[in-house]
Amino acid sequence: MIVTRFAPSPTGRLHLGHAFSAILAHDFARERAGRFLLRIEDIDGTRSRPEHVATILADLQWLGLAWDGELVFQSQRLGRYQAALDRLKAMGLLYPCFCTRADIAASASAPHGPEGPVYPGTCRGLTAPDLSRPHCWRLDMARALAAVAEPLVFEDSGRGVVVAEPASHGDVVLARKDAPASYHLAVTLDDAAQGVTDVVRGGDLFAATHVHRLLAALLDLPVPRYHHHALLAGPDGERLAKRHGAPTLAVLREAGEDGRALADALRKGELPVGFAAAKA
Ligand code: GLU
Repeated sequence: MIVTRFAPSPTGRLHLGHAFSAILAHDFARERAGRFLLRIEDIDGTRSRPEHVATILADLQWLGLAWDGELVFQSQRLGRYQAALDRLKAMGLLYPCFCTRADIAASASAPHGPEGPVYPGTCRGLTAPDLSRPHCWRLDMARALAAVAEPLVFEDSGRGVVVAEPASHGDVVLARKDAPASYHLAVTLDDAAQGVTDVVRGGDLFAATHVHRLLAALLDLPVPRYHHHALLAGPDGERLAKRHGAPTLAVLREAGEDGRALADALRKGELPVGFAAAKA
């Protein structure tokens, strides 16, 4: 049974790019008599808002996208993330890090990785860390890579079999100072726990998949197939994102637009006036 999911973070309103991603994941499952799940990625307590959850549900219904089974909230699954963190700690693969963003940015040696500056390892190997101070937990990337025996490969529908190379991410954060898990950890655990066979998501997350493949190996999780789709871009070629002022689905819905017609247009690669498709 094919299982896909849409996993929005309720930190703002959905835009056309989210709609496109949700439609692709939904249709992938429906065309194969599979299941399409909806997971609310709300571990970031400072940025997630309940009112955005209600809007997301209304947007998906407006687009004609029905999901299967219970709605899953990451905020209700913190115990599972903690158990995985404990397991990785027991394997000696995590260390507490007390650095601030400013500390890391100020480090002259910090090279850039796929998601910003690579952590220079300042707190790696501290002998007596004071855990009463605010800290996150980082994966010791070199040790983690040494701990996996299996070949780190994943299937990507656009690229074929890909060898995961997470090393360029450096020592990624798995539990944040302000949140009990990071995106990388929660998404990898949840896709496995929910039996997701096919992850359909934007090409902007391709780099993250390399980290997710490593975590799956460390935690003995099944590895889904990945489908990283092209991102929608505005007329200026810039990716559609809230910061570029793209109309939100809620604005279109409240203006009386037909959501199902919009979804069908997006399926055909047509965008509302003023938008053009672009490659990721
Ligand atoms: N929650 C993530 C986001 O809103 C997407 C996670 C995923 O599809 O893996 O960008």
